Amino acid sequence: MAKVSDKFASDRHGWAELLPERRAGDALTGSHRAACVVIGAGFTGLSCAERLGELNPEKQIFLLEARLVGEGSSGRNSGYAVAVSQFSGGFERSEIPEYKRINRINAQGLALLRQRVMAKQIECQWDENGFYHTAADKASKREYEYFTCYLEAMEIEHRVLDQQQLSERLGTETYKLGVHVPIGALVQPAALVRGLADNLPENVRLFEQTPVLGLKDGDKVTVQLAGGKVIADEVFIATNYEAVKIGFLRGRILGSTLAGSFTRILSDDERASLGSLEQWGVLSLHSGGATVRLTEDGRLCLRNTAEYHGGELMSEAELLERQKIHRESFERRFPQLVDVPFEFAWSGVEGISRNFTNFFGRQRSNIYLAGGYNGSGVSRGTAFGTALAEYAAGGQSQLISDCLASQPAGWIPPRPLLDIGAKFTVASRFRGVGLDR
Ligand SMILES: Cc1cc2nc3c(=O)[nH]c(=O)nc-3n(C[C@H](O)[C@H](O)[C@H](O)COP(=O)(O)OP(=O)(O)OC[C@H]3O[C@@H](n4cnc5c(N)ncnc54)[C@H](O)[C@@H]3O)c2cc1C
Repeated sequence: MAKVSDKFASDRHGWAELLPERRAGDALTGSHRAACVVIGAGFTGLSCAERLGELNPEKQIFLLEARLVGEGSSGRNSGYAVAVSQFSGGFERSEIPEYKRINRINAQGLALLRQRVMAKQIECQWDENGFYHTAADKASKREYEYFTCYLEAMEIEHRVLDQQQLSERLGTETYKLGVHVPIGALVQPAALVRGLADNLPENVRLFEQTPVLGLKDGDKVTVQLAGGKVIADEVFIATNYEAVKIGFLRGRILGSTLAGSFTRILSDDERASLGSLEQWGVLSLHSGGATVRLTEDGRLCLRNTAEYHGGELMSEAELLERQKIHRESFERRFPQLVDVPFEFAWSGVEGISRNFTNFFGRQRSNIYLAGGYNGSGVSRGTAFGTALAEYAAGGQSQLISDCLASQPAGWIPPRPLLDIGAKFTVASRFRGVGLDR
């Protein structure tokens, strides 16, 4: 068997690197008994554990995390807690019920996060002013037409902006057209997951650096650890694309590796060249376009690579290579900042299914699972985690029905076909990306 550390590799790059070092919580060893075990402390697992704790105040809930909190994808993403999803590739009136279903889930997740951040006073640079959805080249201009039709048909508040208006707000002339949708929050993702983890209900016990190596089901579930086991009544899997490592979602999910870079903190003059907004977030209307943020602490952050890399993070050398692609895109957007160096590069892995669906529900009699949100798990994962806890408790709600209505996932063939198919699927998101990259 591979060493645990090989199986759950990590590094401190990216958003976690901007925070004080995290003191590792306890790891779990020995034999234990728990009513519920949640595996994975990302947005899904944290919100599932929190809701289980609230619903079962008399029961002991264990939350087991393979790495340190904030080192998984939940602490490595671009930090957009989305309420309004982009659906690229065309606007179909007949799909409106589906668009609404997904946006209802997003909105619930955003509301849950907002409520937790406010109630627990989590310092995570929470900024709820929505995002800029932009188009720079031919393919994304077509997406712009679809996107504005969709916003109008869905009666979603938005403001259309031309190149001049975008340039005044964002300090770049790259974008020819755009829309500001004022719903959605920007966050420092590693700070947010840490804050959620450090404020769980008292009956939820978090164990870090405690990878689950396998599950044996029966009347009770045996959760196997490197140095022990937990016997649980119910288990909740929130391990995203790594569910495959413990025998779930095989042939249904894979990891796509994304990478981005941060500048150092900009000087006042450099910041002034970007307009007057304190912070902002740009989402490209092209699926392969760059995600660009000005963060509250005055850094620019740009992510524009995605590839199939065996579901693994990038090495230092690989990150340096990807950084050249980030740099080219950065200097093209911000010629006034060509002297500003990057300070960090980071990578993260997102879980994607062939048909971009999500996973939710019962896997076996007492084993539940939620995950796989492609690039939108901050709010959606939060909603799915809460819904999973409520569903297992026999709850019924619009949120649960919406999560249960996720389409079944398309089949992903095993290796070596997987490598070819995965490379093709991930590469296809960049088709026609042009100046949006
Ligand atoms: C670069 C990048 C940018 C992104 N940008 C955005 C964005 O701006 N907005 C957005 O909404 N989404 C974004 N995403 C996607 C988002 O990060 C994911 O959808 C989200 O993290 C999924 O949350 P999760 O809790 O389901 O899974 P994860 O965040 O992957 O958490 C799963 C956790 O389970 C742990 N784990 C795995 N296996 C085991 C095991 N066997 N035992 C114990 N623990 C285990 C992992 O260590 C991990 O901490 C981005 C992703 C990447 C990589």
